[in-house]
Order: sequence, then C-alpha cells, then structure tokens
Amino acid sequence: MSKQSRRSFLKTIGFGGAALVASTTGLSHASEQPPVNNEALGMLYDATMCVGCKACMTACKRVNGDFGSLAFEKAPFDPDGLWDAPQDLSGSTRTLIKLYKESDKEWSYIKYSCMHCQKPSCVSVCPVSAMTKDKVTGIVDYNKDTCIGCRYCQVGCSFNIPKFQWEKTLPQIVKCDLCKNTNLKEKGITACAQTCPVGAISFGKRRELLDIAHARLRDNPGRYIHHVYGEFELGGTNHLYLAAVPFHKLGLPIVPQDAPAEFSEKIQHTIYKGFVAPVALYSTLCFIALKNQKRQDSNGNGEDDK
Ligand code: SF4
Ligand code: SF4
Ligand code: SF4
Repeated sequence: MSKQSRRSFLKTIGFGGAALVASTTGLSHASEQPPVNNEALGMLYDATMCVGCKACMTACKRVNGDFGSLAFEKAPFDPDGLWDAPQDLSGSTRTLIKLYKESDKEWSYIKYSCMHCQKPSCVSVCPVSAMTKDKVTGIVDYNKDTCIGCRYCQVGCSFNIPKFQWEKTLPQIVKCDLCKNTNLKEKGITACAQTCPVGAISFGKRRELLDIAHARLRDNPGRYIHHVYGEFELGGTNHLYLAAVPFHKLGLPIVPQDAPAEFSEKIQHTIYKGFVAPVALYSTLCFIALKNQKRQDSNGNGEDDK
C-alpha cells in the first residue's frame, strides 16, 4: 500500500469511525436512568431458612422439562455408586443450591439463579435483542429464535448466570425466566417458591419482598448480615437475598450500586440495529481496497511500501 493510499485509508477509517460515533451519540440523550420498578415480580431467598433439600432444583427441572444431569441415566456416579447433583448452573440447570461451609459455626446454603436485574447487562450487551426485559413484570427473558449464539450475555452478566448448551447441535442460552411460560402462567407463582417446604423462597412484588426482608432484619438482628443483597447492587435486582454469612463468601459478588448497562446498550443496539452500521463500514472498506487495487494495477505492481 502506498503512503498516499495508506493516508487515505486512515482518513477514511477515521471518517467512518467518526460517523459511527456520531450515529451512537445521538442516543446518549435518551440515557436517563429509569426509576427502580418495585412492582416487578421477584423472589426473596432466605439462606437462614433453607435446609438444602434441593426440592426447588427438582421443581425447576420438572416445569422446564429438562432433567439434564438430574436424570438417572445421565447422573454422574462416583466409584461407590453414589450419584451427585449438578455442581453448577448449566445448559440444563436454571437454579442451583450449594453448601458453603467454613467451619461448624459458619456455614450456609445458597441458591443461584438469574437475578432479574433492574438494569440487566445481558439485555444491554445482546446485539440482536434476544435478551429482553418486560417493563411491567421485570422478567428478563430469552428468545432462542433471535439469538445468534455470540454469548455476549454470558460475558456481560456480573453474576455468571447465562449458560450455553455446548453439548447440543442447536444450542441455546439457558437461564431462569421466573417460570414465565410454565408455573407462573399456570399457578401465579414460581415452581421453586411453590415447592420449598420451609418457605425459604418468597415470591411476590419487589416492594413486598423488600418489606418482608427488612421486617426480618428488624425482628431478628442477631440472625442476619444486616443487608438485603440485591436491594441496591448494580441498580437493584428482583431476586433478593438474606443470609447469615457475608454474601461474597456465598458467591454473590461485591458490585457497585451503579449499573454499567445503559451505556453499552446504546452503543450495541445502535451499531447493530439492522446491521446497517457494520454493513456500511464494511462496504466503505471494500470500496477503498478496490480503489487502491485499481490504482496499483494502473501504476504497475511492486511500487508500494517503499
Ligand atoms: S443476573 Fe445476569 S442473566 Fe440475569 S438478568 Fe442479571 S445480567 Fe441478565
Ligand atoms: S423461577 Fe422457575 S425457572 Fe426460575 S429458578 Fe425458580 S423454578 Fe426455575
Ligand atoms: S426447596 Fe427450599 S429448603 Fe429446599 S433447597 Fe430449595 S430453597 Fe432450600
């Protein structure tokens, strides 16, 4: 490539980049953060009440028709013939109960599933809006027909929730949808909350769940870490937690109160909207490359990069 054409190339790249940035900044005005939706649906998991029976996990698999590694024939057996439950969220496990044990005095069960964030990063980073958040219910859901399998949602989620079905020919992202099309639709409650034999999972509107959580903290000051996890984390989540053990020890990350989601959402959804910007940029680059090729041909080869 000649010096001149290299300059032209860079100029055009700069122009293309500036145009791209200009096309995205137009939306930055719309980035006022929506208020927290306390009427959204959610769950409160009280780790101090959980007895680790894993009935919630089984109920979740039952309503989703996806027994995966809980199915007898697929279960991992140890050398003594004992079978184990799933060790992590996966392409067939939307909720998981695990035991944290530091000593005989400090231990706790913990439930992992989608937090149904108020400002979900998975929605923000998805270039094709396969992840969506319902404005009324607050449910963060996934559309397999739109998904292109980029797995940005996996990387973007601070809670490491979405999982990819690596083992399947037509893989999907799997995560809790708050039983939107199953138990919630049929019975008005999530399967895990309905099944829990000790009431460790409360289901309801975020406002009601926060009232319950703060009442428990007030009435049992020595029982809990004095914090409702999810009330403010990353702008708030609809899956809330109470526990007696510091949350970060239970695998719930220490995160800021601000959600990083909005800015990335503006960029992603603008750049990829209809794939217009990437196609335009690609076309420009092709045009320049062809033009340079023609110039080289007319000048004779071998003159470049001197
Ligand atoms: S926990 Fe992760 S997957 Fe669930 S809504 Fe939040 S960002 Fe999305
Ligand atoms: S709400 Fe439904 S999908 Fe989500 S963890 Fe509970 S049972 Fe599973
Ligand atoms: S069903 Fe209830 S008690 Fe049993 S593991 Fe799940 S949350 Fe804990």
